[in-house]
This record gives sequence, C-alpha cells and structure tokens, in this order.
Amino acid sequence: MNEPKHEDAAGLGTRAVWAGERGERWMGATQVPVALSVSYSYETVEEWLEVALGKKAGYIYGRNTNPTVAAFEEKIRDLEGAEAATSFASGMAAISNTLFTLLSPGDRVVTIKDTYGGTNKLFVEFFPRFQIDVTLCDTADATAIEGEITNGCKLLYLETPTNPTIRIVDIARLAAWAHRNGTLVVVDNTFATPMNQRPLELGADLVIHSATKFLGGHADALGGVVCGAKELVQRIYHFREINGACLEPMSAYLLLRGMKTLHLRIRQQNESALRIAEFLASHAQVAKVFYPGLTAHENHEVARRQMSGFGGVLSFALHGGFDRVKSFLPGLRYANLAANLGAVETVAGPPATTSHVESTAEERAASGIPEALIRYSVGIEDVEDLIADLRQALERIS
Ligand SMILES: *Cc1c(COP(=O)(O)O)cnc(C)c1O
Repeated sequence: MNEPKHEDAAGLGTRAVWAGERGERWMGATQVPVALSVSYSYETVEEWLEVALGKKAGYIYGRNTNPTVAAFEEKIRDLEGAEAATSFASGMAAISNTLFTLLSPGDRVVTIKDTYGGTNKLFVEFFPRFQIDVTLCDTADATAIEGEITNGCKLLYLETPTNPTIRIVDIARLAAWAHRNGTLVVVDNTFATPMNQRPLELGADLVIHSATKFLGGHADALGGVVCGAKELVQRIYHFREINGACLEPMSAYLLLRGMKTLHLRIRQQNESALRIAEFLASHAQVAKVFYPGLTAHENHEVARRQMSGFGGVLSFALHGGFDRVKSFLPGLRYANLAANLGAVETVAGPPATTSHVESTAEERAASGIPEALIRYSVGIEDVEDLIADLRQALERIS
C-alpha cells in the first residue's frame, strides 16, 4: 500500500510526469527501476524485524510490496488526490478484492445495470453464493437508486461513463444521498481517468481503475488499482496480500511509463471523440450515437458538471442487426478489432465480443444494448484520418 510522500500543488500534467518518480531511483538512474526480485535481504535480524513490523520503510516479499509497484501506486494516488492507493494484477482483481473485503454475508449492495460485464458477473453470479444481496438499478434513474439506498445498503457501486452505451451517473448527487444513509460509495473511474473526472472530490469513498485501459494507454500491461482513505485501502491491501492478486513489477513499469503521457493522450482523445461523435451523428448509415459530449445525450448536463472532458470512448448503432456490424467492422483500416479500450491505437468492437462477452443476447437486450452497436475507443491518430476511415467503411455497407 502506498501513502502520500508529499503534497504537490502542481497541475495534473506535471504530476502525471513526476508523481512517484523520485522515490525509487537506483544508482542515479532517472527512470524507476524494474525490481524483479521476489524478496529483500537484511544484514541484521533487528532491521528485518523493524521493516516487517512496519516501523521502518522497506520491502520484504513481492506479494506484499515492491518498489516499482509502489511508484505506480504513488502516481495514481497523487492524480486521484487520494490518501492511499493499492494495486492489483488486473482491474477485475481490484474490483473483486475491494468488494470481497468490504462485504459480508447478509450485506446488501446497490448498483447499476450497466457496470462492466465482469463486474456484473460478480454481482449476479458470485455474490448470491455468499448471501450478499445485490440490487441492480436502472442506470439512468437516480431517483430509483436513491430509493434503493434508503431501503438500507452497505455499499453503493457506480461506474460512469458506462460500458458500452456510455451512460452517465450523477456521482455527487448519489454520494451525498448514500452518505446520509451511512452507505460506502465506490466508483469505477476507468473510462474517465482522473484527467476528466475526480470521483473522490465528488464524494466517493473509493475510486477504482482498470489500469489496463487509459492509465497504461498502450495495451501492453494488465493492472488495477483502488484509491481512497487510508483506513479502507489498508483493509483491501491486507486481503490482497493474502489472496495474492498482486501487480507484476514489469507491468507496473509499463503502466508508470504510459501514465507520463496520460494528460496529452486524454486531451487528444477527448477532442477527437467529440468530432467523431458529431460526424457519426450526422451520417445516414448511423441509427444512434452514444457520447456524453453531444448535447442530445440524455445526461449531457450531468456530464458537463462532473467531467472536465467527455472521454475517448463512444458507441454507435448501425441500422439493422448484428450482420451489419459483421460487414462494417472489417472495413475499418485504422482500428484494431479487439476487446480492449483506452489505447493509443483506435479500437473497435461489438459488445458481444468486448464488454459483454460474458453475457447472453437476452442479457444484453435487457441492458438496452442494441445488437448493431459498435464501441469505438478513439486513439491518438490524426482525427481527419479516423473520420475518413469511418466514412469509407460506412460507404462500403450502404
Ligand atoms: C476493462 C474494465 C474492467 C476490468 O479490467 P481488467 O483490467 O480487464 O481486469 C473494469 N471496469 C471497466 C470499466 C473496464 O473497462
């Protein structure tokens, strides 16, 4: 677990570059070393014991802590403005460790229907086996969510923007309601990143990331992280050090390197995504575009209030069924047809093979996901090229 080393008043871009970078230098190297050692040796048993008891800073064993991993945790902790952060092998490890730490049999969770597919599986498949009661609410209906919180619940779990229909949840409103009822608030901030949205400042208790996506940004490392108050993060860290879902040092290094350009990537992706959303919204082959930056989006006003940018992911539905998606997607020249998002390359795919690969067609329909929907994660290519690419691929199927 990582705690603040210093309070930095610099801007988010400066902090993306510098946070976490100064603590673990080796031989004067300007870059954080990849510490592949699984354990750390001591000259005396006394010193070893002091480190083991937490009385002295240091490392014992890689499943607990690691210098490269600590640098990654410090960078995201700083960017989210949190007291503490702890990391995991993947985003799903971060989510399951957080929820299994905080919930016990008999507890009730209120959440939304549109969480990430894997998260939804935890709620509908695994938690019931542990006698944890889960209520899935209509994502767009804040009043219904408030009603369910009032009925009594231990934890409110939110995600915004959501995957793949890019819905927006009002974090400040629901966090205030939850806290009046003594409910903990957890927000998955993967789609927004701290550059666009800062859930802790909006009232959340914990913020979670799949670092695999925008934080790393290069689709070459899996990772996850949870940030928040020290007391909560310490408990989650303790469960993780025992169950072993720790972040690999090499992955931590790749994520750390990716995060140094987070502000630049997000700035470009926000700008390009809005232009692409506007282009698609005006195209005859496109039935509907889902992007919170469009004034026509159902929660555009909430998005404007709680986000400083609308993010790099949009989705759009073609007219017709899944067959249209199958003929359209291979026509794209500048997009990986793949399951990830948040990379420097544009990534496109249907929910059936990406966010909701674990769900059935009936479950997708129940979540309001059109069968001809395409999720489009905008990369950092020149936006003119991406628009031209979409235009020619749409023409092919007309
Ligand atoms: C990908 C994703 C996850 C899961 O993260 P992994 O790193 O793939 O385990 C969780 N939440 C959201 C919003 C995601 O996009």
